[in-house]
Formats: sequence, C-alpha cells, structure tokens
Amino acid sequence: MFDKILIANRGEIALRVIRAAHELGVKTVAVYSEADRLSPHVLAADEAYCIGPAPSAQSYLRGDVLIDVAKKTGAQAIHPGYGFLSERAPFIQAVRDAGLVFIGPSPDAVTAMGDKTAARSRMIDAGVPVVPGTKEALADSAEARRVAGEIGYPVLLKAAAGGGGKGMRVVQSEDEIERAFDAAGNEALGAFGDGSVYIEKFLEGPRHIEIQLLADRHGTTLHLGERECSIQRRHQKLIEEAPSAVLTPDERSAMGQMAVAAARAVNYEGAGTVECLYQNGEFYFLEMNTRIQVEHPVTELVTGIDLVQWQIRIAAGEKLPWTQDDVRFTGHAIECRITSEDPFNSFLPSTGRIGELTLPSGPGVRWDGGIATGVEVGLSYDPMLAKLIVHAPTRTQAVERMKRALLELRVDGVDTSVPFHLRVMDEADFRAGRLDIKYLEKHEELLAAGPSDEDVRVAALAAALLEEERRQMRTVARPSSAAPSAGASGWRQMGWRAR
Ligand code: ADP
Repeated sequence: MFDKILIANRGEIALRVIRAAHELGVKTVAVYSEADRLSPHVLAADEAYCIGPAPSAQSYLRGDVLIDVAKKTGAQAIHPGYGFLSERAPFIQAVRDAGLVFIGPSPDAVTAMGDKTAARSRMIDAGVPVVPGTKEALADSAEARRVAGEIGYPVLLKAAAGGGGKGMRVVQSEDEIERAFDAAGNEALGAFGDGSVYIEKFLEGPRHIEIQLLADRHGTTLHLGERECSIQRRHQKLIEEAPSAVLTPDERSAMGQMAVAAARAVNYEGAGTVECLYQNGEFYFLEMNTRIQVEHPVTELVTGIDLVQWQIRIAAGEKLPWTQDDVRFTGHAIECRITSEDPFNSFLPSTGRIGELTLPSGPGVRWDGGIATGVEVGLSYDPMLAKLIVHAPTRTQAVERMKRALLELRVDGVDTSVPFHLRVMDEADFRAGRLDIKYLEKHEELLAAGPSDEDVRVAALAAALLEEERRQMRTVARPSSAAPSAGASGWRQMGWRAR
C-alpha cells in the first residue's frame, strides 16, 4: 500500500478520497486554488499546497504543477477524482513517466473509450449491443442524410469527441438534417477542437441505466449492479438510485456481463462505469466513463463495497477478494445532487458565502459534501456543492427517508436545488418508479416558480404558529401589530425548513 497520495481535485470528491485514504492508513496531500483556501478538503488533508489562481486552467488543470507537488511531497500516487484531469490520457502518461502511480486505468484504456466512434467500433467487435447508427464519423451532410434515411427518423447527431451533452442534435425529419449536421459539427469543434460527428437512432424516452465495474490487474472484473440515472436536465443527472425499479435479476445479470465484456475489451483496471440506454427490456451501450462517478455512493450503500478505497487498493496492486456471486445487493439507495442553482429560475447559478449549515443525520443518511460555513461559492467551478444520499430497506422507505433528510438540511447563503428535490420526492410518477430521460420534460410543474403542495403545507403551519404567537401576545397585552404577517412570501422563507 502507498504511504502517501496526492488528490488532484477539490470539493466533495477530494474530501471523499481523503476519507478513503485515511481509513487505509494512507497520508494525503491536498492541492487548492487561491479561491479554495478555506475549503474542507484543504483542512482534512495531512498537507495542502496552493497551486494557482481560481481559474481551473491555472490551477486544477496544471498537470505539470500537480506532478511537481507530488514529487516534492513524496506522494507515490495521484488520485484524479472526476472531471478535471481524470480522463486525460496525456496526463496519465505524464504521471507514469514521472515514476508515480495514476489511481485509475491506463492511458490506452482511456483513449480507447474517449473517442465515441472508436469505442462504438470496439464494442461492436466485442459483441456488445450499441444503438443502431454509424461506426465512423460522417463525411458530410449528404452521408448524414443517406444514413438517417436508412435507420429512420428521429436520429441523433453526436460529436465523436463529445461529453456533457455538447455537440448533440436531435433531428426529427429530413429537411432539418443539413442544418443540424453543421450546427453539431461547429459546436463540437468549438468545445473539443474536433468537429467529427456520427449518427445514432434517437430512442424515444429510454431510461439511462449504468453499470458499475471494478477490475484488478490480476484478471478479475466484476460488475456491482446498476444505477438508474434517468432524472436529468439537459443531459446532466440530478437524482440517481440503486437498484433500478425495473430491472429483473436476469436483465441485471445480462447488462452486467455486457459491461464486463466492454471493460475486458480495453484491459480495463480500476473503477469504471458503462452507461446504457434501456427500453422495453433492450439495452444499448452508450459510453464508458473511465473514472469514479459522482453517483458512486448509491452503489456503495447497496453493495457495502467502498469503491474509492478499492480504487486505491487496485492501484497499489491488490487483488479483488470476491467472485461475481459474492456481490450481493441490500436495500435501496437514492442520491440527490445539491447544487448552488435556482431550480425555479432555469437552474441559474447562485453565488454567495455559505452561512448557517445544518446537515441531516440519523439512520441511513450520508452527506458527501465539500462546503462549510464561511466558504465562498463563486462561478469558477461546477455548482455541485454536495450529495445527499440515503439507504433504506425498500424504495418507498428510501424516498421517505430522503424527504425527511432534505427537510433537515439547511444551507443559507445561496439558492440550492433542495426545494426541487423535495418536490420530486412527492411526485406520483417518481414514487411509482415510472422514470425515463424525458421525466423532467413531462413534469414541468416541478420547475415552476411558486409554492408546491409541500410549500403550502409548511406555509400553513407557519401561519398557524404565527397566529398562535399573536394570540399569546395579545393575552399579555402587547401590541399585536409587531408580528409580521405570513403573507405571500412566507412560504419562501419558511419552505423546506419546517422550523
Ligand atoms: P455525453 O457524453 O455528451 O454526456 P451521452 O452519449 O452519454 O453524451 O448521452 C447523454 C444523454 O443523452 C444520455 O444520458 C441520454 O439521456 C441522451 N441520449 C444519448 N444518446 C441517445 C439516443 N440514441 N437516444 C435518445 N437519447 C439519447
């Protein structure tokens, strides 16, 4: 095992990795930008070094500086977290060239899965089902028109170098294809420096279901079941759960075997995820994420396997001690991403200093956060502040537990996604597990400004309490006009706090 590792990340994932390392008796080196001086991950690590100003290009993306800090501090390995440098093959190679261990897959595996068309070709060769479409990038809009005609509209144009939903265009009919081809290509060129675009059949309302993998370098590759990630906004996940409400044990096993085959095809090592679209019992490979994912805790809670510790142990050369049959699933877990955004105003990012912070606790509640009172939330980084995760014996109990935990949570100083999550926990389709990637399009009411039923209930409670207070004030003959009214804005101040 390593003596010391460097964590090349910030926020909640940096803290998550530090915790995993400390439980393994491994010392930790944190890095931080000037904007992150007071961040919890800086205080939690054994050592911490400032690596530059707030913009990521001058701090968290400075691979050379990170490698330098690792060498100077005597760290033997680098954990990249997710985002930033986690899937950049040249960085992984540079880490290796410096005589350090990269906690993650080889640069070859990352490259093989990084280009979507190359990955699709490889998967087709490995017998993995992919969404019908082209194997190669399209030469021009005439080819796009011809292929779309063959597979049938609607189709989806996708950037070969894509990620984060960029360079994607749904095309409903032939007369739109030329314009969409140009638009997707231009967007891809701007975002990734590569304008190659390919084509896929656009599935109407599938689920996004992904499979977690763990692979060691001694020939064991296991799947750890699925995560249901269909609740998305603009292809960004908001709520994840494990298991999916719809998969049968046979389907789970078939998808798991497919994911294992995908990982083996690129000699994968470490933790990784195969993302799939699922519809009517059919599933298709979408892409493989060659890193730890934001939503990994739901899998940890239902399997009891610490994925981040195993990333470190695998990188240190350890063997996975299980066979596939040893992997068992218990109960149901749900994760809500807590972001600094206003869900009722197009998820507009919200900035400010974190004020009072009350964290939920009690049975089955886990908080993976990267914030503390006094921390400044700006626009330099991703708006995800934390993840609230619950585990309970059944899905219904997990939903109730999440609701209870969300009501306990209080984050002052910025707007958060918490009121949105509370609405979802009460929504009938969500409660019934009727989910697909169009869930939010079908439930616009969840994003509408104005009080929800829960808001109204809390406001009514607040009004009743105020009324009672006034009554008591009157009995002690104090002027009743001193009490503020619980008017139209009362629900906004009192909502989701229930206190
Ligand atoms: P990115 O890498 O840009 O995130 P993905 O290929 O992972 O792109 O797709 C992101 C999301 O787009 C998926 O989770 C799904 O919601 C939607 N999507 C992707 N491909 C299809 C498809 N062929 N049909 C319908 N929806 C799709």
